[in-house]
Formats: sequence, C-alpha cells, structure tokens
Amino acid sequence: MSEATATKTSIPQQRRLVTEIPGPRSQELHARRQEVVPPGVHSVLPVYIDRAHDSIVVDVDGNHIIDVCGGIGVMTIGHTDESVVAAATEQLGKVTHTLFTMTPYAKYVEVAEYLAKYASSDERYKTLLVNSGSEAVENGVKIARKHTGRPGVAVLENAFHGRTMLTSSMNHKAAPYAAGYGPRAGNIYKAPNSYPLHDGLSGAEAAARTIAFLEKFAGAEDLACLVFEPIQGEGGFIVPADGYLPALQDWCRANGIVFIADEVQAGIARSGTMFSFEQFGIQPDIILTAKGIAGGLPLAGITGRAEIMDKSQPGGLGGTFGGNPVACAAAVAVFESIERDALLLEAKRIETSFTEGLKALQAKHPAIAEVRGRGAMLAFELTKPGTTEADADLVARVIDFAAKQGVLLLATGVYNQAIRLLPSLKITDELIADVLSVLDEALTAA
Ligand SMILES: *Cc1c(COP(=O)(O)O)cnc(C)c1O
Repeated sequence: MSEATATKTSIPQQRRLVTEIPGPRSQELHARRQEVVPPGVHSVLPVYIDRAHDSIVVDVDGNHIIDVCGGIGVMTIGHTDESVVAAATEQLGKVTHTLFTMTPYAKYVEVAEYLAKYASSDERYKTLLVNSGSEAVENGVKIARKHTGRPGVAVLENAFHGRTMLTSSMNHKAAPYAAGYGPRAGNIYKAPNSYPLHDGLSGAEAAARTIAFLEKFAGAEDLACLVFEPIQGEGGFIVPADGYLPALQDWCRANGIVFIADEVQAGIARSGTMFSFEQFGIQPDIILTAKGIAGGLPLAGITGRAEIMDKSQPGGLGGTFGGNPVACAAAVAVFESIERDALLLEAKRIETSFTEGLKALQAKHPAIAEVRGRGAMLAFELTKPGTTEADADLVARVIDFAAKQGVLLLATGVYNQAIRLLPSLKITDELIADVLSVLDEALTAA
C-alpha cells in the first residue's frame, strides 16, 4: 500500500473530538508561533493541522474536524485526493523546476489546453500561469493595459482581488488590506455593484447605475478593463441580479474595455459549472483562476482571447516559479478528476442538500435573512431580525460555537454579515447532515 492510500484509509469521514478546541498541543504551538510569526499573518482558528483527507482535517491533538472552508475554496476536490497526490509525487521525482521561460515542459501546456477548452468552445484562448490569485489579477490588468493602451481599471463595490500593492488598491475594504500600506495604486475606479438583498434593483437598473458611475467618474475611453467576480467571494457570496453582468459586458464591448472575470474563488467547478460566469450568459475576454486549480499547490492562470494575450512582447510575461511542474501536474489531475468523477454534478448535489437544509434552518431561525450561492459556494446572511442590518456578532458567535464542536466555518462579507460554505465536492451526505445539525445547535445557542 502506498503512503497516499494509507493516509486515505486512516482518516474516516467523521467528526470526532478528543480534546477541547484548540487542544493543548495546538495551544503550545500557538505560543511558539507568536514568538516568530508577526500578528499581521492572522489565523482565524489557531488549531494546528497535522493531516487531512477529503473533508476531514486532523489536528495535532487528534481531533477530527469537518472542513467546510477548504483553505477558502482551494480544496475543491478534497484534501489529499489520491490522484493529485500520485501525480504530484510522480512529478516530484522527475523534475521540480526548469523555469518555463527557459526550457519548457509538457504539463504547463496541458493545463493551458484544459483552460482553453473550458474557456470557450469556438474561440481561441491562451493562458499564462503564475503563482497566486493576486498575481493573476495583476497580470490580467497588465495585459489589458498593453492591449488597450489605456490606464484605467474599473472594479465593483464589495470586491476582493488580493493583497499585492495593485490588488489591495482594488479591494472594497481598506482595512486590513490597504490601510497604512499606502500610497495605493492609481487609476482604479470602484463602481456600485448589484446586491439584490440590499439594493432591491433589477439587473438592468443596477447595471445602469454602475455604467453611469463609470462614465461620469472614470470616463469609458480611459478604461483598460473592468475586473469583476461573477459571484463575489470575500464580499459575501453575492450573486448579482439577472441581466446585470450581460449589460456590463455589452457596455464594455461597445467601449473597447477588456471584460475580466476574476474566477479565483468561484471558478474550477466550485459553482456547478467549470467557471461561474457560464451561469450568467456572458463570455469574458480574460478569465482569472487560482485557488481550486491545483489541489492546494500554488498555481494561478490568466486565460484570455488570443488576440489580447498575443499583444505582449516575449519576456513581458512570466516569473521564476510561474507554472511550476509539480503544481501543473496536480492541476492536470484536478481537471481529470472533475471530468472522471462528474464533479459538476456533485456540486449540484451539494447545492441541493445544503440549500434545503439551510432553508429549513431559516424557517426556524429568523436571523437568517437569505440563503444564496451556487453549487458548493453557498452562504447565509445573518441580520438583526426584521431589519437588513448585518449581525456580525451573531456570525462570530455561530462560527465560534461550530468550531468548538469541530466544524470549520468562515465568515464573509464587507461587514462579516454572512457565513460561507466551501465544502469539498466529494463531501458525503452524512457529513452535510452533521454540519447542518451543528449549525442548528449553534444558531439556537447563539
Ligand atoms: C483569494 C482571492 C484572490 C487573491 O488570491 P491569492 O492567491 O490570495 O493572492 C483574488 N480574487 C479573488 C476573487 C479571491 O477570492
């Protein structure tokens, strides 16, 4: 039996606590960590993880915890998936680095072929691989500027695009991402978005508001691109009203503005389609991917229409580690698993089970104002009963209660107004039922 197989069979898909959370070993490690790691690198839950498989993470005290965040939507096909472990292990023993821009290798090309195939069935898309979501956004902007010769970058309210100098200037939230780290990047214009629960606008009305703002404030002729998340991730898993994104796309087309979908959180099968944009009747010029693409290894992609991608001069794009062979081998295994294991259908199964369960909880707990999302990217927003005012304290108490019961959840939203669920696409129905029962207890207790 290989190591990988041994890991799998030794972690049953069940919640089991043997100490309080965090346990004594985690607390000991946390004390050590505070001596050598700065507080800016914050951990939401200081429970130190030793190993994991599919939906269960095992901490250093031996607690078996249900992971419903997957490192923020990274573990889309589950922790230590056998095919990913096997592909990465094999690649580790062959070659770990040559620098693709020096002497290339096949796995990079294979990843680009998968992304091209899913980006469009009739138009040619090409891909640049980098290391992180932020780097994907940076390169998307760079490529759009090269293509258009314009400086301006339009983004939407509630957006999150990363933590580098450019991307932290594109986020909605100043603190903790940008505040104090200035000067911020210029030529960024943040327009109102569509948030049906709070704005009550139709897609057409919300789009008219966004476009009017950008025309007045940014000037269409100065805009290189509009960068948007089809379903906003950190912003609160906000699904825009019908027709909103198509109207923005029409306006971008009419004005020569590159339409860039940031699929870093919603992409790669998470939402029930390979990319979440497919569910909104749009076809972006550039698609950005990262998080779930390589089973936890660092990899990100900028996939764009050939005529846009081909504008950059040789040497203008790249980076030492971009498209690392081990990460690419893992990504190929992720795409193969999505196809072989019919994971788009699994995302729909998860959407149905969790949504039904959450709607039943909503009937019982009036604090749940809305259950929303697509596929295995779901959230419920908590408000003070009878109002649309965010109840961030309640969100925090529910998450804290669940963590102590061995269920790992994460808040989302500019006001921490919602709780998000980002389970593995291979999570069992038994675990879903267990998560829902802990949520019921948590909402009752909180
Ligand atoms: C996480 C995220 C990013 C940034 O990705 P990193 O890999 O953390 O740099 C960008 N966009 C979206 C939508 C994200 O969720």
